[in-house]
Amino acid sequence: MKLVTSTPELLDKEVIILNSDPFFNRISKDKDVFTEEEIRKEIQSGQNIGAERFLLQDGDQYVGVLEFLMNNPNDGYPWLGLLQIRKDAQGQGFGRSAMELFYGMMKERGVKTFRLGVIAENDPGHRFWKGQGMVPVKSVINQDGKEIVVYEKDVSQDFYCDEVLNGKTPVRKVMETERVLAYHHTRPSYEHHIVVIPKIHVGSLISEEESNDDGLLLELMAVVKKVAADMTLSTGAAKVITNLGAYQDSKHFHWHVVSGQRTGSK
Ligand SMILES: [Zn+2]
Repeated sequence: MKLVTSTPELLDKEVIILNSDPFFNRISKDKDVFTEEEIRKEIQSGQNIGAERFLLQDGDQYVGVLEFLMNNPNDGYPWLGLLQIRKDAQGQGFGRSAMELFYGMMKERGVKTFRLGVIAENDPGHRFWKGQGMVPVKSVINQDGKEIVVYEKDVSQDFYCDEVLNGKTPVRKVMETERVLAYHHTRPSYEHHIVVIPKIHVGSLISEEESNDDGLLLELMAVVKKVAADMTLSTGAAKVITNLGAYQDSKHFHWHVVSGQRTGSK
């Protein structure tokens, strides 16, 4: 799977992809189907403001279109302007693969945070992007008068999703439940240092993803409680901490359960 730069020769492939999902077209542009000319104009207007456009290629098939802007003149953030997977290819992980490729590209370019907008009515869109670890930051009205939820993702600072949960960095597990993992910190800052995290992306204790619900909180706290009880029993004392805002380095909800002397590493 790869992202190939969109060229005029690939326009017919784009037309097929962009016209494969009338629901998406209707809620975004009030129109089910676009002509080749309308799509050409849309691409042109993106290019005029510096957008880069790619097709997602799988073997000899083109299954998606992705467009982004390194610097959105409205807010100075890199923006993912479009990710559309051909309707008949949806639900097969192509969206996730496209995003993996996109995150890699952003990391190579030194991008820390990027944004995207999802039309308020686009329920499948919100589900997909929240599952990707995008965090809603605000609602705006776009030039077509539509309500857009602006999402943001920190691509550089989520050690938990990028290293631990995908298995890239092996960890010593302490305890695991359906939605929660506790393991020995890979770079402990205390003699005894265990981290407890949700296994899906949740930004922090106070972030507003749907998945950050009371059930998850209870499951996390049950694990924190068990880990902290064991630590208190073995060392005589423990602290339980979760950092927020500027105190929080990695933007994935995590509890520290610590005890003993502070150590050198952070
Ligand atoms: Zn995460």
